[in-house]
Amino acid sequence: MGPGPVDADPRVLRAMSASLVGQYDPAMTAYMTETMALYREVFVTQNEQTFLVDGTSRAGIEAALVSLVEPGDRVLVPVFGRFGHLLTEIAERCGAEVHTIEVPWGEVFTPEQVEEAVARVRPKVLAVVQGDTATTMCQPLADLGEICARHDVLLYCDATASVGGNELRADDWRLDVVTAGLQKCLGGPSGSAPITLSERAVAVIDDRRHVEAGIATDTDVARGVRIASNYFDLAMVMDYWGERRLNHHTEATSMLYGARECARLLVAEGMDAAIERHRLHGAAMLAGVRGLGLEVFGDVTHKMNNVVAVHIPAGIDGDGARAAMLTDYGIEIGTSFGPLHGKVWRIGTMGYNARRDAVMVTLAALEQVLRSGGADVTAGGGVGAAAEVYS
Ligand SMILES: *Cc1c(COP(=O)(O)O)cnc(C)c1O
Repeated sequence: MGPGPVDADPRVLRAMSASLVGQYDPAMTAYMTETMALYREVFVTQNEQTFLVDGTSRAGIEAALVSLVEPGDRVLVPVFGRFGHLLTEIAERCGAEVHTIEVPWGEVFTPEQVEEAVARVRPKVLAVVQGDTATTMCQPLADLGEICARHDVLLYCDATASVGGNELRADDWRLDVVTAGLQKCLGGPSGSAPITLSERAVAVIDDRRHVEAGIATDTDVARGVRIASNYFDLAMVMDYWGERRLNHHTEATSMLYGARECARLLVAEGMDAAIERHRLHGAAMLAGVRGLGLEVFGDVTHKMNNVVAVHIPAGIDGDGARAAMLTDYGIEIGTSFGPLHGKVWRIGTMGYNARRDAVMVTLAALEQVLRSGGADVTAGGGVGAAAEVYS
């Protein structure tokens, strides 16, 4: 019940144990095509270029940024938690001139703050996190796409922590590139990074196409500044997933099975229903921790549905309590990073764990752990408050 990774859905684990097929097997080609269609529904997009980058979520981030950004390009990053710092550092490694704006952890940006910075910096790319698990905040994106379109800026979004549990509409919000990972609301293990790219983003990347020697044909004329990574060269990865099926890396077959199953589960449930499930169980957990007398961290109106952070009460040993949750009850909860390390606990209700029984058992266990740490908690205060949300 931490901020991710969380338990994978048993159906996903079962899918991953299916026997392997080679990348030229017609079954494999069909799985790849089907996976592209499924993730179009997850990202709510018509983007043809919707596929998987092999590796954990940051493989998707690196692929997006290294493929879009050329050395010397300006990139603007609104930083509201740990992962904005990560986007900054990855863009710097791509050779970008990176500009940042910051709000304190626990807050998000207004559209006006972002537009002022976009107009001032005139970046090629605005790189923003949707949900930052470090702070639990969810940055509203609907207006940012409009701002970027007006200023002719590409909008990249890291939706790893949020997609599947909070609304995300790639086309309606005019997001040019969105990347994710499986281990949060998508209910899978880490190791695959779904991505979607708008036609505008694809055109920018196509202008940097350098097909590697050994597989290139006479028609493959190199253009533009070569993308600095081979593995994350999205021009080549798109040729691999696209009709050309031009060989690149060996597809991570078991991860493909897992990613496909995650999306099959979500699409069968319906994206709106999945988001509503995260909203309901997140609301129950929020009421429950308050019922235990815990103080919630950050601007609750902008909290992601799938994770809550609470201040560790004075006099309670935060790490000791987390250890007791794990050893006595088999439940993992998290602390956070940087300025929040050791100051808050983060409790997730996401993916397979966005369930009533998981919420109730976690609150019951937390009550006992708080009591044995010497906190003055109302008996049944957490479970009772959550039950009211469910009633
Ligand atoms: C959890 C998370 C990640 C994780 O990246 P990995 O490479 O899968 O460890 C990335 N971005 C955000 C916003 C996250 O919340």
